[in-house]
Amino acid sequence: MEKKEKAKRVLGILKKVFPGARTELKFKTPLELLVATILSAQCTDKKVNTVTPELFARFKSARDYATADTAEIERYISSINFYKNKARSIKQCCKRLVEKFGGTLPRTIEEMTELPGVGRKTASIVLAEAFNIPALAVDTHVKRVAQRLGLVTSDRPDHIEEELKGLVPEKDWRSVTNLFILHGRRVCRAKSPLCEECSIKEFCEYHKTKGG
Ligand code: SF4
Repeated sequence: MEKKEKAKRVLGILKKVFPGARTELKFKTPLELLVATILSAQCTDKKVNTVTPELFARFKSARDYATADTAEIERYISSINFYKNKARSIKQCCKRLVEKFGGTLPRTIEEMTELPGVGRKTASIVLAEAFNIPALAVDTHVKRVAQRLGLVTSDRPDHIEEELKGLVPEKDWRSVTNLFILHGRRVCRAKSPLCEECSIKEFCEYHKTKGG
């Protein structure tokens, strides 16, 4: 089957399995989502959501983070892994945000990735989820699901992003991210994927090679 057709059919099925899929991180403003996404590196969204209500109540603007002692930010997020590095990242990122963009988040991937600690994945999540701007984020789940399905050939996230963008219309970029992340977390796990109960197994190259 042609890859575009496969991508279309896979998305159609996953949209029914995970209706209204969106990021599981809780946020009210673009800045909150940026901070939550930085915190979510190698940590579950659920865990991040346990610390952000108090953090967001204390730090309401980029300037608040930029002018705070790193130790104070650390206190709010100390139950999260790598919290010292993450506190430093958030402060540095917000400092640049204030200096270069007046404290307002830019709306392009190029500008957003100028912020320290913000890569294409984080920038794409914020653009798509907070601003509703078409963007496709490739995290470990998106990469694994796309590779196992045989939709992409590359191993590099930036190349995978381009390959996937070429297969689905712009309006579905955000859905690819959210649906592949959910599918990767719940079904297509890195170790022991639940292939027998997978709703898209008929399209999966990995499943075929495993004799499914
Ligand atoms: S069949 Fe298995 S490997 Fe393929 S997408 Fe489904 S869970 Fe993942």
